[in-house]
Order: sequence, then C-alpha cells, then structure tokens
Amino acid sequence: MTVSRVLVSLVWLIVIGAGVLSQDAVAQSGPGDQPATLSLDELTALMEEDEAQDSITSMTPDELLDIAGLVLVLGIALVSFVTQQVWLKYGVFILVIGYFGFAKSSLVSIVNIFAILEGNLPTFRHGVPWYLLIGFTVVSTILWGRLYCGRLCAFGALTQLMDRIVPARWRIEPPTWFDRRAIYLKYVILVAVLVYYFTSGDFLIYRYVEPFWMFTLNGTMVMWTLLTVLLLATVFVRNLYCRYFCSVGAALGILSQLTVFRIKRWRECNTCKICEHACEWGAIDGPRISVAECVRCDDCERIYDDQEKCVHWIVLRKSAPREPAV
Ligand code: SF4
Ligand code: SF4
Ligand code: SF4
Repeated sequence: MTVSRVLVSLVWLIVIGAGVLSQDAVAQSGPGDQPATLSLDELTALMEEDEAQDSITSMTPDELLDIAGLVLVLGIALVSFVTQQVWLKYGVFILVIGYFGFAKSSLVSIVNIFAILEGNLPTFRHGVPWYLLIGFTVVSTILWGRLYCGRLCAFGALTQLMDRIVPARWRIEPPTWFDRRAIYLKYVILVAVLVYYFTSGDFLIYRYVEPFWMFTLNGTMVMWTLLTVLLLATVFVRNLYCRYFCSVGAALGILSQLTVFRIKRWRECNTCKICEHACEWGAIDGPRISVAECVRCDDCERIYDDQEKCVHWIVLRKSAPREPAV
C-alpha cells in the first residue's frame, strides 16, 4: 500500500470518526453547536498535497546523490562487461565490494525474493535504489545471463578476487561427477528456504543461508564461525558458495533460462577443452555452456575472440590456401 493510500485512508477514518463523534455531540448538545468536518475540496487538496510530497521531485539532495551513485556504479559495471577489459573488471570488483558491500550493504538477497513473491514491494518514492538494483538484475539476466553475479554482487566479487590472489597450486578442483550433481544443492536450498519462510514467516533465516550480512560486520558467534569456515574452504575450492550454496544464484539461474544473448560456440568447441578449463564456475561441459551456471565473467569470451589462442582461428589459419610464392 502506498503512503498516499494510507494517508487518504487515515483522512477518511478521521472524517468518518468525526462524523460519528459529531452525531454523538449533536445528540448531547444543542442544535446551535456545529462540529467541524472536511469538505470534498479540502479532502482533494489534502490528497494533492500528499501526492506532491510523494513524487520523485520531492527527493532530498542526499537521496538524489544516492541514486546518482548507484546509476554510476551500474554504468561502470555495464561498461566493464561490454568492453571485456580485465583491469576494469577487477576494478569493478573492488568498487562493488566497497559500494554495495561495506558502504551500502545492499546485495540482492533471499529476503528480496520473499518480498517479490509476496508482492510486498517498497513504494517507488522511497524505493528508487531498490527498483534500480532489482530492475537492473532482472533485465540484465534476461538479456545476457547472470551479470549480477559476474559483476555486481559484492560477495561474488570478493571470492573472484580471492581466486586471483590465492596461488593456483592450492586449488582443489572438485571431480566433474561431483560438481555436476552438487550444483543442484543451491536449488534445494532455495526451495527449502522458501518453504520455511512461507510456513513460518521467519525471514531471519537469511542469516544462516547467505553470508551477505558480513559487510555489516554485525553477526553472532555462530554466524562468524560459519563464515570463517566458508571463506577458508573458498581458498581451496573456487567460488564454493556461489556454485553450490547460493539461493539467490539459484533463482537467477532459473531466470537465466530466458537469456536472449548467449555466448556463441564454434564447431571446434565440440572437442576443444581450452575454455572448459578456463571457466572457474564449472559452467562449460564439452561444447555446451550452462546458462544457469554461467555468470558472464567473460573469461571464455576473450579466448573465443583471441585469434592466437582459440583453436577455431588456428584451424582456420592453417586450412587457408597459402599465397603462391612470388
Ligand atoms: S551466486 Fe550468490 S553470492 Fe555468488 S555472485 Fe551470485 S548472488 Fe552473489
Ligand atoms: S578455445 Fe575456441 S574452440 Fe576452444 S573451446 Fe574456446 S572458443 Fe571453442
Ligand atoms: S568462463 Fe565463460 S562460461 Fe564460464 S562463467 Fe565465464 S563467461 Fe560463463
């Protein structure tokens, strides 16, 4: 319900209440005592005043600055995706850890999914940043896939940065048979959490299924212990939480089935394993890229375009007719 509707309802309650009280008062007093009630014009004026206060133009400079900052961060993330510049991608990771993580503590969470499924959305006037972030996440997922995971999520950015810093020899690659089954765990967690929430109404369950609270630096001993175990395990297994446990990632994976612009593959990808080995998300299985697992990190896309690395271009060069010797 919007603020305006609440206020109008309150006004009506006051009017009706005043009417009831006035009847009592009339009954108890003489005909000369007239109680004050709102005329229709006054009521309309009140509604218009309320609408004006509720409009976007009534935002404070701080609110407008907040929105401008968010648009800027989303824009930089989008530019880094389109240009596929590696240095810019890692710059965006540091930016989103600072901005969405520690500064705003504003990550897409299972709580947002509860709210969307319940239709319990904030009013536009007070929820512009919410609509921008959720809108960008949904639209970009439909257009390109899990771009939110690949660029905007502060926790995902943190684990991707860890992956860059931790020595490669420390890594443990889960066996393929295990990985192919374990990726479904996050969907089981998503369903379990939704069932729990809609039967108990306890939204605080989010604290135990996602680590995003860490950016607030405000957790219980149990939560910090679980987080420490998770981050230690992530040192050895790349993007562990994202790949196997994240319910938001699972929801975006489902949404990404609608993705319009998918990564193309060459004929040579049927046998070539270069991109499969390069994908730190386990999203490539032979010639196939799983849109549900792919976060559009662009590692394989840069190989795809690289005429010195990609087998397709190398084969093409070798099979091209040689120039006759002069
Ligand atoms: S899978 Fe979850 S934690 Fe990982 S990047 Fe996506 S939303 Fe963030
Ligand atoms: S290197 Fe080229 S051919 Fe090999 S998997 Fe990647 S895109 Fe396909
Ligand atoms: S390497 Fe390619 S398939 Fe793997 S997550 Fe990145 S963009 Fe997706």
